[in-house]
Amino acid sequence: MIYETAPAKINLTLDTLFKRDDGYHEIEMIMTTIDLNDRLSFERRSDSKIVVQVEQNYVPSDSKNLAYKAAQLMTETYGVQQGVTITIDKGIPVSAGLAGGSTDAAATMRGLNRLFGLNRPLSELCNLGITIGTDIPFCIYGKTAICKGKGEIIEFLNKPPSSWVIVAKPSVGISSPDVFKRLNLEEYHEVHTTACQEALLSGDYEKLCESLSNRLEPISSKMYPEILKIKENMLNSGADGSVMSGSGPTVYALAQKERQAKHVYNSVNGCCNEVHLVRLLG
Ligand code: ATP
Repeated sequence: MIYETAPAKINLTLDTLFKRDDGYHEIEMIMTTIDLNDRLSFERRSDSKIVVQVEQNYVPSDSKNLAYKAAQLMTETYGVQQGVTITIDKGIPVSAGLAGGSTDAAATMRGLNRLFGLNRPLSELCNLGITIGTDIPFCIYGKTAICKGKGEIIEFLNKPPSSWVIVAKPSVGISSPDVFKRLNLEEYHEVHTTACQEALLSGDYEKLCESLSNRLEPISSKMYPEILKIKENMLNSGADGSVMSGSGPTVYALAQKERQAKHVYNSVNGCCNEVHLVRLLG
């Protein structure tokens, strides 16, 4: 039996540049990881089946699970005959904008690489992973990076200065394709990609907080006004910066001092059903 930890990602920035001929949006986003994790275990089977076990019944355990898809891709690509049982313990909120499914898929690719002694380089796993999800290449490495293209072009950046992260997911599920459908590239919403890169380069925490920005935030907030309410609430209770992650609905805030972080946590804990106080990993 082997184990993998699958951390959630947050977007420090997210920008959409133009719509490509293949229907995808060209994106540019800076992402990092937080200490909010799914835990996966992998065990060889005596047959050739892929079996996924998830305790939480609202997560699919059949071939719709991204971990299943990743395992199928790995066994088919590398001619593995033996099956595997994958057990997932979800700690990451689902349909949240935290790449929960993608990080499980990435952990599965890393896990099977070890379990079956395949020893493929991570860059090769990224090329495979992008075929099932745009966040998977980033999740294979974790760390802090700017991702471009569909998500497959990854440049590593310095990890952010240490900070608390307060993560709040309102009880609505958002489908990313729905948000992208409503995206009007003519409408302007400033995203501070360069400032964020500079902040990471110089380790400037204040500048990092000022640069948090997401092109999709106004769109998802129009669908679900509670997103902006949570953000305002976090900022009013002393957060250093706050923004929506991915296509939402999760909003997170940064706070450097523990007391300040707890205050922000308590201020949103009543109005939101899933709130976590964790650390930035990067
Ligand atoms: P992203 O940020 O990459 O858009 P997300 O955090 O918004 O992802 P997920 O938690 O990955 O969303 O869930 C999106 C959908 O994927 C859900 O409908 C869920 O049923 C399905 N899904 C498939 N595999 C998994 C998995 N291993 N964990 C959670 N959800 C999964």
